[in-house]
Amino acid sequence: MIRIAVPNKGRLATPSLELLERAGFDLDGRTNRALQANIGHGFAALFVRARDIPEFVADGAADVGITGGDLVAEADRPVERLLDLGFGRCRLAVAAREEGDVHCLEDIAPHVRVATSFPTITARFFAERGCPVDVVPVSGAAEIVPHLGVADVIVDLVSTGSTLKVNGLKEVATVLDSEALVIGRPDVPADDERSRSIGVLTAALESVLRARDKRYLMANVPRESLDEVRRILPGLNGPTVVDVLDGDGHLAAHAVVDRRDVYGVIADLKGIGAEGILVSKIERLMP
Ligand code: AMP
Repeated sequence: MIRIAVPNKGRLATPSLELLERAGFDLDGRTNRALQANIGHGFAALFVRARDIPEFVADGAADVGITGGDLVAEADRPVERLLDLGFGRCRLAVAAREEGDVHCLEDIAPHVRVATSFPTITARFFAERGCPVDVVPVSGAAEIVPHLGVADVIVDLVSTGSTLKVNGLKEVATVLDSEALVIGRPDVPADDERSRSIGVLTAALESVLRARDKRYLMANVPRESLDEVRRILPGLNGPTVVDVLDGDGHLAAHAVVDRRDVYGVIADLKGIGAEGILVSKIERLMP
Protein backbone atom coordinates (compact mmCIF):
# COMPACT_ATOMS: atom_id res chain seq x y z
CA MET A 1 0.00 0.00 0.00
CA ILE A 2 1.35 3.46 -0.89
CA ARG A 3 0.68 6.11 1.76
CA ILE A 4 -0.20 9.61 0.65
CA ALA A 5 -0.25 12.34 3.31
CA VAL A 6 -3.07 14.84 2.74
CA PRO A 7 -3.79 18.02 4.76
CA ASN A 8 -6.58 17.29 7.25
CA LYS A 9 -7.62 20.93 7.68
CA GLY A 10 -6.80 24.46 6.58
CA ARG A 11 -6.97 25.92 3.11
CA LEU A 12 -5.15 23.10 1.35
CA ALA A 13 -7.49 20.35 2.64
CA THR A 14 -10.52 20.78 0.37
CA PRO A 15 -8.66 21.41 -2.91
CA SER A 16 -6.38 18.42 -2.19
CA LEU A 17 -9.34 16.10 -1.63
CA GLU A 18 -11.13 17.42 -4.71
CA LEU A 19 -8.05 16.83 -6.84
CA LEU A 20 -7.65 13.24 -5.62
CA GLU A 21 -11.35 12.59 -6.20
CA ARG A 22 -11.17 13.96 -9.76
CA ALA A 23 -8.15 11.77 -10.44
CA GLY A 24 -10.29 8.71 -9.61
CA PHE A 25 -9.59 8.06 -5.93
CA ASP A 26 -12.43 7.17 -3.62
CA LEU A 27 -12.71 9.51 -0.68
CA ASP A 28 -16.33 8.67 0.15
CA GLY A 29 -15.25 5.73 2.25
CA ARG A 30 -13.56 8.07 4.70
CA THR A 31 -15.56 8.11 7.90
CA ASN A 32 -15.55 11.49 9.62
CA ARG A 33 -12.35 12.25 11.47
CA ALA A 34 -10.68 8.99 10.41
CA LEU A 35 -6.94 9.60 10.22
CA GLN A 36 -6.40 6.97 7.53
CA ALA A 37 -8.51 5.67 4.67
CA ASN A 38 -8.07 3.26 1.83
CA ILE A 39 -8.73 5.38 -1.27
CA GLY A 40 -8.30 2.67 -3.89
CA HIS A 41 -5.70 1.82 -6.59
CA GLY A 42 -3.32 0.61 -3.86
CA PHE A 43 -3.23 3.96 -2.02
CA ALA A 44 -4.03 4.85 1.59
CA ALA A 45 -4.52 8.51 2.57
CA LEU A 46 -3.14 9.76 5.90
CA PHE A 47 -4.95 12.90 7.05
CA VAL A 48 -2.43 15.04 8.93
CA ARG A 49 -1.45 18.68 9.41
CA ALA A 50 -0.03 20.30 6.28
CA ARG A 51 2.97 21.52 8.31
CA ASP A 52 3.89 17.96 9.37
CA ILE A 53 3.74 16.49 5.88
CA PRO A 54 7.34 17.27 4.74
CA GLU A 55 8.61 15.60 7.90
CA PHE A 56 6.42 12.52 7.44
CA VAL A 57 7.54 12.11 3.83
CA ALA A 58 11.21 12.61 4.69
CA ASP A 59 10.91 10.05 7.50
CA GLY A 60 9.16 7.50 5.28
CA ALA A 61 5.95 7.54 7.36
CA ALA A 62 4.30 8.56 4.07
CA ASP A 63 5.54 7.82 0.54
CA VAL A 64 4.15 11.02 -0.97
CA GLY A 65 2.39 14.08 0.35
CA ILE A 66 0.43 17.13 -0.71
CA THR A 67 1.43 20.31 1.09
CA GLY A 68 2.48 23.94 0.62
CA GLY A 69 5.84 24.83 -0.91
CA ASP A 70 6.32 27.27 2.00
CA LEU A 71 6.03 24.41 4.49
CA VAL A 72 8.41 22.25 2.47
CA ALA A 73 11.00 25.05 2.46
CA GLU A 74 10.52 25.68 6.19
CA ALA A 75 10.88 22.00 7.10
CA ASP A 76 14.19 21.93 5.20
CA ARG A 77 14.09 18.13 4.93
CA PRO A 78 15.27 16.04 1.99
CA VAL A 79 12.12 15.63 -0.08
CA GLU A 80 11.62 15.73 -3.83
CA ARG A 81 9.22 18.12 -5.53
CA LEU A 82 7.19 15.87 -7.84
CA LEU A 83 4.41 18.15 -9.11
CA ASP A 84 3.22 21.77 -8.78
CA LEU A 85 -0.51 21.81 -8.16
CA GLY A 86 -1.46 25.41 -8.96
CA PHE A 87 -3.63 25.97 -5.87
CA GLY A 88 -2.76 27.39 -2.44
CA ARG A 89 -0.88 30.19 -4.16
CA CYS A 90 0.58 32.73 -1.77
CA ARG A 91 3.85 34.42 -0.94
CA LEU A 92 5.88 34.65 2.20
CA ALA A 93 6.46 38.36 2.67
CA VAL A 94 8.30 40.72 4.96
CA ALA A 95 5.87 43.30 6.37
CA ALA A 96 6.14 46.27 8.69
CA ARG A 97 3.86 48.87 10.26
CA GLU A 98 2.33 51.26 7.73
CA GLU A 99 3.45 54.37 9.63
CA GLY A 100 6.78 52.91 10.78
CA ASP A 101 10.31 53.67 9.55
CA VAL A 102 10.74 50.42 7.60
CA HIS A 103 9.92 50.98 3.92
CA CYS A 104 12.31 48.52 2.27
CA LEU A 105 14.70 45.72 3.25
CA GLU A 106 17.61 48.16 3.60
CA ASP A 107 15.74 49.90 6.44
CA ILE A 108 15.93 46.72 8.52
CA ALA A 109 18.98 46.88 10.81
CA PRO A 110 20.87 43.79 12.01
CA HIS A 111 19.32 42.12 15.05
CA VAL A 112 15.90 43.68 14.59
CA ARG A 113 13.22 41.39 16.04
CA VAL A 114 11.22 39.63 13.32
CA ALA A 115 8.12 37.63 14.31
CA THR A 116 7.18 34.66 12.13
CA SER A 117 5.89 31.13 12.04
CA PHE A 118 8.63 30.44 9.44
CA PRO A 119 11.76 30.81 11.61
CA THR A 120 14.10 28.72 9.42
CA ILE A 121 13.30 30.50 6.15
CA THR A 122 13.32 33.91 7.84
CA ALA A 123 16.68 33.46 9.57
CA ARG A 124 18.23 32.20 6.33
CA PHE A 125 16.70 34.99 4.21
CA PHE A 126 18.15 37.78 6.34
CA ALA A 127 21.47 36.02 7.01
CA GLU A 128 22.00 35.59 3.25
CA ARG A 129 21.57 39.35 2.90
CA GLY A 130 24.24 40.03 5.50
CA CYS A 131 21.68 41.21 8.03
CA PRO A 132 21.08 38.52 10.68
CA VAL A 133 17.88 39.22 12.62
CA ASP A 134 16.49 38.02 15.94
CA VAL A 135 13.66 35.70 15.02
CA VAL A 136 10.66 35.64 17.37
CA PRO A 137 8.78 32.40 16.64
CA VAL A 138 4.97 32.65 16.73
CA SER A 139 2.52 29.94 15.72
CA GLY A 140 0.08 32.21 13.87
CA ALA A 141 -1.53 35.67 13.76
CA ALA A 142 1.85 37.37 13.30
CA GLU A 143 0.01 40.49 12.06
CA ILE A 144 -0.83 41.56 15.59
CA VAL A 145 2.78 41.40 16.82
CA PRO A 146 4.04 44.81 15.53
CA HIS A 147 1.15 46.48 17.38
CA LEU A 148 2.09 44.77 20.65
CA GLY A 149 5.64 46.08 20.55
CA VAL A 150 7.04 42.54 20.45
CA ALA A 151 8.65 42.95 17.01
CA ASP A 152 8.66 45.71 14.38
CA VAL A 153 8.80 43.41 11.42
CA ILE A 154 7.00 40.18 10.55
CA VAL A 155 7.40 37.50 7.88
CA ASP A 156 4.03 36.00 7.04
CA LEU A 157 1.96 34.45 4.25
CA VAL A 158 0.07 36.83 2.01
CA SER A 159 -2.25 36.16 -0.88
CA THR A 160 -4.12 39.39 -1.66
CA GLY A 161 -2.49 41.59 0.97
CA SER A 162 -5.85 42.62 2.44
CA THR A 163 -5.17 41.03 5.87
CA LEU A 164 -1.97 43.04 6.16
CA LYS A 165 -3.82 46.20 5.18
CA VAL A 166 -6.63 45.66 7.65
CA ASN A 167 -3.98 45.25 10.35
CA GLY A 168 -2.14 48.46 9.45
CA LEU A 169 0.84 46.70 7.84
CA LYS A 170 2.56 47.07 4.48
CA GLU A 171 4.51 44.57 2.44
CA VAL A 172 8.22 45.35 2.21
CA ALA A 173 9.67 42.38 0.29
CA THR A 174 8.84 38.88 -0.96
CA VAL A 175 10.79 36.04 0.61
CA LEU A 176 9.29 33.14 -1.33
CA ASP A 177 6.43 32.36 -3.75
CA SER A 178 4.48 29.27 -2.82
CA GLU A 179 1.82 26.90 -4.11
CA ALA A 180 0.66 23.41 -3.17
CA LEU A 181 3.03 20.63 -4.24
CA VAL A 182 3.20 16.87 -4.40
CA ILE A 183 6.39 15.79 -2.67
CA GLY A 184 8.05 12.40 -2.44
CA ARG A 185 11.20 10.82 -1.06
CA PRO A 186 14.31 11.32 -3.17
CA ASP A 187 15.74 7.89 -2.37
CA VAL A 188 13.11 5.62 -4.02
CA PRO A 189 14.87 3.69 -6.83
CA ALA A 190 13.31 4.46 -10.22
CA ASP A 191 12.67 0.76 -10.98
CA ASP A 192 10.90 0.18 -7.65
CA GLU A 193 7.21 -0.81 -7.81
CA ARG A 194 6.41 2.13 -5.51
CA SER A 195 8.14 4.54 -7.79
CA ARG A 196 6.07 3.24 -10.71
CA SER A 197 2.82 3.69 -8.74
CA ILE A 198 3.84 7.19 -7.68
CA GLY A 199 4.54 8.00 -11.35
CA VAL A 200 1.02 6.82 -12.23
CA LEU A 201 -0.37 8.98 -9.40
CA THR A 202 1.42 12.16 -10.50
CA ALA A 203 0.42 11.55 -14.14
CA ALA A 204 -3.21 11.18 -13.02
CA LEU A 205 -3.11 14.38 -10.97
CA GLU A 206 -1.38 16.23 -13.79
CA SER A 207 -4.04 15.10 -16.24
CA VAL A 208 -6.74 16.61 -14.00
CA LEU A 209 -4.84 19.89 -13.69
CA ARG A 210 -4.28 20.04 -17.45
CA ALA A 211 -7.97 19.45 -18.15
CA ARG A 212 -9.12 22.18 -15.76
CA ASP A 213 -8.53 25.02 -18.23
CA LYS A 214 -9.65 23.14 -21.31
CA ARG A 215 -13.06 22.49 -22.85
CA TYR A 216 -14.21 19.96 -25.44
CA LEU A 217 -16.00 21.70 -28.26
CA MET A 218 -18.17 19.98 -30.87
CA ALA A 219 -19.84 21.66 -33.82
CA ASN A 220 -21.47 20.71 -37.07
CA VAL A 221 -19.63 22.65 -39.75
CA PRO A 222 -20.23 23.06 -43.48
CA ARG A 223 -18.28 20.44 -45.43
CA GLU A 224 -16.71 23.08 -47.71
CA SER A 225 -15.30 25.18 -44.83
CA LEU A 226 -12.76 22.67 -43.47
CA ASP A 227 -9.77 24.97 -44.02
CA GLU A 228 -11.39 27.65 -41.89
CA VAL A 229 -12.39 25.05 -39.30
CA ARG A 230 -8.75 23.97 -39.04
CA ARG A 231 -7.76 27.61 -38.46
CA ILE A 232 -10.47 28.25 -35.86
CA LEU A 233 -10.12 24.92 -34.04
CA PRO A 234 -6.44 24.03 -33.82
CA GLY A 235 -7.13 21.46 -31.05
CA LEU A 236 -4.33 19.30 -29.69
CA ASN A 237 -3.39 17.83 -33.10
CA GLY A 238 -5.93 19.53 -35.35
CA PRO A 239 -9.68 18.96 -35.03
CA THR A 240 -11.23 15.49 -35.31
CA VAL A 241 -13.69 15.57 -38.20
CA VAL A 242 -16.37 12.89 -38.57
CA ASP A 243 -19.24 12.36 -40.96
CA VAL A 244 -22.75 13.21 -39.82
CA LEU A 245 -25.36 10.77 -41.15
CA ASP A 246 -27.90 12.77 -43.12
CA GLY A 247 -25.69 15.71 -42.19
CA ASP A 248 -27.03 17.81 -45.02
CA GLY A 249 -23.62 19.07 -46.12
CA HIS A 250 -22.27 19.23 -42.57
CA LEU A 251 -19.43 17.42 -40.83
CA ALA A 252 -18.91 17.21 -37.08
CA ALA A 253 -15.70 18.86 -35.88
CA HIS A 254 -14.43 18.11 -32.35
CA ALA A 255 -11.50 19.80 -30.63
CA VAL A 256 -10.02 20.66 -27.26
CA VAL A 257 -10.09 24.42 -26.77
CA ASP A 258 -8.60 26.63 -24.10
CA ARG A 259 -11.36 27.70 -21.68
CA ARG A 260 -10.58 31.38 -22.29
CA ASP A 261 -10.82 30.96 -26.07
CA VAL A 262 -14.28 29.34 -26.11
CA TYR A 263 -16.13 32.66 -26.39
CA GLY A 264 -14.21 33.78 -29.50
CA VAL A 265 -14.15 30.33 -31.10
CA ILE A 266 -17.95 30.05 -30.92
CA ALA A 267 -18.32 33.44 -32.62
CA ASP A 268 -15.86 32.40 -35.36
CA LEU A 269 -17.63 29.06 -35.90
CA LYS A 270 -20.99 30.80 -36.13
CA GLY A 271 -19.40 33.10 -38.71
CA ILE A 272 -18.71 30.16 -41.04
CA GLY A 273 -22.20 28.67 -40.60
CA ALA A 274 -21.58 26.13 -37.82
CA GLU A 275 -24.59 24.61 -36.08
CA GLY A 276 -25.28 22.48 -33.02
CA ILE A 277 -22.29 23.75 -31.03
CA LEU A 278 -21.66 21.88 -27.78
CA VAL A 279 -19.07 22.74 -25.14
CA SER A 280 -18.29 20.38 -22.29
CA LYS A 281 -15.82 20.10 -19.41
CA ILE A 282 -13.02 17.55 -19.63
CA GLU A 283 -12.25 15.38 -16.62
CA ARG A 284 -8.72 14.36 -17.53
CA LEU A 285 -6.40 15.17 -20.38
CA MET A 286 -3.27 13.23 -21.25
CA PRO A 287 -1.75 14.46 -24.52
P1 AMP B 1 -3.59 27.01 6.74
O1 AMP B 1 -4.91 27.24 6.10
O2 AMP B 1 -3.19 28.10 7.69
O3 AMP B 1 -3.45 25.60 7.29
O4 AMP B 1 -2.51 27.15 5.56
C1 AMP B 1 -1.97 26.05 4.96
C2 AMP B 1 -1.21 26.47 3.72
O5 AMP B 1 -2.08 27.12 2.81
C3 AMP B 1 -0.07 27.46 3.90
O6 AMP B 1 1.09 26.89 4.44
C4 AMP B 1 0.12 27.89 2.47
O7 AMP B 1 0.84 26.90 1.76
C5 AMP B 1 -1.30 27.93 1.94
N1 AMP B 1 -1.86 29.31 1.79
C6 AMP B 1 -2.31 29.81 0.66
N2 AMP B 1 -2.71 31.07 0.79
C7 AMP B 1 -2.52 31.41 2.03
C8 AMP B 1 -2.75 32.62 2.79
N3 AMP B 1 -3.23 33.72 2.25
N4 AMP B 1 -2.49 32.60 4.09
C9 AMP B 1 -2.03 31.47 4.64
N5 AMP B 1 -1.77 30.32 3.96
C10 AMP B 1 -2.00 30.28 2.68
